[in-house]
Amino acid sequence: MSRIILITGASRGIGAATARLAAQHGYSVVINYHRQRETAEALAKEIAANGGQAIALPADVADEAQVRDLFAEIDERLGRLDVLVNNAGMLEQQMRLEQMSLERWQRVFATNVYGSFLCNREAIARMSTRQGGRGGAIVNVSSIAARLGAPGEYIDYAAAKGAVDSMTVGLAKELAEDGIRVNAVRPGVIDTEIHASGGEPQRVARVAASIPLRRGGRAEEVAEAIVWLAGEQASYTTGSLLDVSGGR
Ligand code: NAD
Repeated sequence: MSRIILITGASRGIGAATARLAAQHGYSVVINYHRQRETAEALAKEIAANGGQAIALPADVADEAQVRDLFAEIDERLGRLDVLVNNAGMLEQQMRLEQMSLERWQRVFATNVYGSFLCNREAIARMSTRQGGRGGAIVNVSSIAARLGAPGEYIDYAAAKGAVDSMTVGLAKELAEDGIRVNAVRPGVIDTEIHASGGEPQRVARVAASIPLRRGGRAEEVAEAIVWLAGEQASYTTGSLLDVSGGR
């Protein structure tokens, strides 16, 4: 039976690239989406047309009940879970911290931090060898913003990804005896639609010259790191924060 991978927020960008690559690696893919049902279902069809296996399931990862329902549906339809990729993430309009509202911080933390927490909790209950599971792997999609701080842009997002990094390191140690490896990738500036939400759709072009490799990254290049961390090739890697940032 093929291994099951759940990728949150996978209808586009890094999540969609990871879904395609995971299917090529023989995983049966669960494409979680929030609002983009048509795109997610089209991606599942595309993967199936290329000989892979994929289903699209909805859930707002920041909503506890919806996350419970998502995992219950996976139990029912697939019967197991081997890998969780906490990819769903968002940022808001660039501004200085003193202009930010509390509601904005709550929204940013809800998706980027609480979403990962809620999905991790459900996944651990299914994967843990101490709870009768087969073990597994968790890959959190953080950001190099966690160490650069994103001054003048989105310190809330940087702080949220910093929390994801701490969760990764702690959880890797907490789950070592449960047969679950936990790692994070920290993308640099990757050419996806997320930059439009920050109010800077041309971000990749603007910062390219300041990146040591002199270009933004592609979603597929981040997907390679995620799928490697998810798989057996990374059997001795846990608690790592892997920058995929062109040296930034
Ligand atoms: P994207 O905006 O294309 O993809 C984000 C996805 O998350 C979308 O499909 C969106 O619908 C989904 N999503 C948002 N909120 C959700 C929620 N509450 N529940 C379920 N799904 C939700 O951007 P991307 O660049 O592909 O981002 C993927 C991940 O990579 C994010 O965690 C992001 O923070 C991280 N990242 C991106 C970059 C970059 O430069 N693109 C850099 C560092 C980190």
